[in-house]
Amino acid sequence: MTNQEIFQRAQQTIPGGVNSPVRAFKSVGGTPRFIAKANGAYIWDIEGKQYIDYLGSWGPAIVGHAHPEVLAAVQEAATKGLSFGAPTEGEVILAEKICELIPSIEQVRLVSSGTEATMSAIRLARGATGRNKIIKFEGCYHGHSDSLLVKAGSGLLTFGNPSSAGVPQEFVSHTIVLPFNNLEEVKKAFAEVGQDIACIIVEPVAGNMNLVKPQAGFLEGLRELCTQYGALLIFDEVMTGFRAGPKGVQGLTNITPDLTTLAKVIGGGMPVGAFGGRQDIMQQIAPLGAVYQAGTLSGNPVSVAAGLKTLEILSRPGFYDVLSKTTTELVNGLSDLARQHNVTFSADSIGGMFGIYFRENIPTSFAEVQQSNIQAFNVFFHAMLDEGVHLAPSAFEAGFVSASHTEEILAKTFAAADKAFVTVAQTTQNS
Ligand SMILES: *Cc1c(COP(=O)(O)O)cnc(C)c1O
Repeated sequence: MTNQEIFQRAQQTIPGGVNSPVRAFKSVGGTPRFIAKANGAYIWDIEGKQYIDYLGSWGPAIVGHAHPEVLAAVQEAATKGLSFGAPTEGEVILAEKICELIPSIEQVRLVSSGTEATMSAIRLARGATGRNKIIKFEGCYHGHSDSLLVKAGSGLLTFGNPSSAGVPQEFVSHTIVLPFNNLEEVKKAFAEVGQDIACIIVEPVAGNMNLVKPQAGFLEGLRELCTQYGALLIFDEVMTGFRAGPKGVQGLTNITPDLTTLAKVIGGGMPVGAFGGRQDIMQQIAPLGAVYQAGTLSGNPVSVAAGLKTLEILSRPGFYDVLSKTTTELVNGLSDLARQHNVTFSADSIGGMFGIYFRENIPTSFAEVQQSNIQAFNVFFHAMLDEGVHLAPSAFEAGFVSASHTEEILAKTFAAADKAFVTVAQTTQNS
């Protein structure tokens, strides 16, 4: 069966043929690749075509796909039973490991996805402060719960509008949406309604509007404002946790959030999320406190086994040095090739995540990301796919490198890009 045939068939029984919208290739056009298997840095589609993978399941595949040690841990756990709905020792060990690796997390609760982690952290922040309003930033994604599916309203300090049908305006009336990297706007919001603000939630390095780093002083300023006004600072490190560095972005910046959300890497490819932070706050969730939160499959033993083994592998000496070096080499190599082909391009990376932008300079906000040449990205994306390189299928997504991406794989990637940039230069006006 071809990708085209299965995609047609999929659309009969699955809306849009996919179980998460970005997979449908809407933004780049064409037919999504249906994946048959993956190993190390490679994936194969159902037609048997091999690709170098820079999607890494959107981040979890940091040690490489189907890592033998992770598979063995999963297999061993599975033989003992798939789920009990009762506590296990593995959950305790994973919680201890997370608390040990990320010092701001004194206590942690496991859930099954990033969406659940952020939704629960927001509820906890509201419960702990007794306040309703939250601040989020334009272009940051925190999963698909109602109060976080918000886009900026018009005007300066207006409350957001729902960014999805099915979310009542009233549900987002407590969500304030501000531009990323603009501390002045945050100050204004606090000056106006600071006593009502429960928390700020932020991707400390944004990875869901392509990669956008915080400018100097931005995160520090958020920390100071939260402390001053008694609001909680939530770092959504679902993507950056154990990806930007061994202690997430907070380990790189020495900023201590009150709460942190995790997912993706901590499940090693299985469904896991987590939220944690200050003990006095975490103890306000049920069964100790009044903030309700629960999950039938929370702390699932097979997922926990995959997560624990993944964290063990990436705690080995030199893991992040190699990962960062590979990722830096990748973006430098692509930038050099773009320059040789006269394609307007810039790129950035942190740890094992990267951004490529078809614009002159590295963007600092959602507005700037939107100014990139989307057509050029789409041409590049398809040319790379033809050459056997699998990138995230949107100009607004970050890319991911794993420990399995060797020098040889980088060289193959550059050979593909050398051709792809020719196509970009030919088909797009590169003014
Ligand atoms: C992926 C992501 C989420 C949502 O996680 P899911 O597991 O897809 O629900 C939330 N926040 C950030 C920063 C993410 O990257």
